Amino acid sequence: MKLTFFGGAGTVTGSKALLESDFTKILIDCGLFQGLKELRRKNWDKLPIDLDELNLVILTHAHLDHIGYLPVLVKNGYTKNIYCTKATEDLAKIILLDSAKIQEEDAKRANKYSYSNHKPAFPLYTINDAKKTINQLKSFELNTWYPINIDIQFKFLNSGHILGSAFVLLNIKGKIIVFSGDIGRKKPILLPRYKYIDKADYVVIESTYGNRLHKKRKITAQLLRYIKLTYSKGGILIIPSFSVERAQEIIYFLSLLKREHKLPQIPIYLDSPMGVNATEVYFKYTNYHTLTEEDINSMINTVHLISDVTTSKSIVNDLNPKIVIAGSGMITGGRVLHYLDKLISDKKNSILIVGYQAEGTRGRSLLSGDSELKFFGKYHPIKAEVFKINEFSGHADQSELLDWLQHFKEAPNLTIINHGEPHQSQALKVKIKTALGWKCTVAKMNNEYYLN
Ligand SMILES: [Zn+2]
Repeated sequence: MKLTFFGGAGTVTGSKALLESDFTKILIDCGLFQGLKELRRKNWDKLPIDLDELNLVILTHAHLDHIGYLPVLVKNGYTKNIYCTKATEDLAKIILLDSAKIQEEDAKRANKYSYSNHKPAFPLYTINDAKKTINQLKSFELNTWYPINIDIQFKFLNSGHILGSAFVLLNIKGKIIVFSGDIGRKKPILLPRYKYIDKADYVVIESTYGNRLHKKRKITAQLLRYIKLTYSKGGILIIPSFSVERAQEIIYFLSLLKREHKLPQIPIYLDSPMGVNATEVYFKYTNYHTLTEEDINSMINTVHLISDVTTSKSIVNDLNPKIVIAGSGMITGGRVLHYLDKLISDKKNSILIVGYQAEGTRGRSLLSGDSELKFFGKYHPIKAEVFKINEFSGHADQSELLDWLQHFKEAPNLTIINHGEPHQSQALKVKIKTALGWKCTVAKMNNEYYLN
């Protein structure tokens, strides 16, 4: 067996691992490179995989850095199946269509203002490519072995990272290989904890926070403090948020505060078509999360779900105190920009950052204390207060990664660490070697690993 990483090695984006065994080639995850320009440029490189020979793609979860490159594969001629869990299928539909729309809009804008080096600029993929991709998705239950061919079976196990996220287990002629995808927290907010696994011959484990220990969560108290602070100034609280998981977590915490009668009497909006769709998927798959019917009803009663543009515009223009959750999570686009356009230059308003902000994004600029933010073709002075809640992370920290590994009853032959900045992966490697005494290595891009 041979394993090659074409992304998600030395970085946290672009996850793609190709597993080859005899005549079968399986790609695990097919993510988009995101963040800095030199990374994003890799999305335009030719993927060194013969698509005629690729038999199957299996997805761990519906984040763009794990599925966002799929339409390129399809556009270039991949016509076979893409396997995933049921909730991942629903979320992937939403996320791929949105991503394709952004690609098309970016290309259109680049042509209009001719700021691209490519004339004309083309989208990486189109809505049509995304639609074709969606037709190739095929979903399966958790916790069940399914055959791929006579020699190979696969199984999905909950990984507790986002709705539908799963470890991918492959049994190839009796050898078990586990791909962790992204691993959630030991006590996730809305999901069941990741499953422990007894035995594997090879483990590929993520290392986003291979060198970090999360602080204990005190989210509701912080959230309430920033809400009250903003309300006392008569301002508006804007929460840029990812549409999947984070938006639902925030709504959940707000609903808890509302149930305890702690919130001021102001409207709360989730203004994001993708966030609204994702929330609906969330409520549909009750066996994938830990919310009760009462929790769900309370969430529905707490927040106004806004999709249509006209309503969104009227909420943007209404300057009365309120709380708005809007995408995108790193302020790289989306409706949050329309709110910031109105509100960022008034000190009575606040912006609450609740997620990871990649280098080069507007969200990162806000956190760095920049004095102005550029969007819609002009610089906006940042007068609104910027707050941050750190404890939302959906990724296991070092101790949680070790907790998951420690539940294997025997050491795997080899543990391969991927999906991390180099210092995070390296730190996890040292920790695994010293704490568990396991053989492990850090995945390198395009390197081939022979598993026997
Ligand atoms: Zn993820």
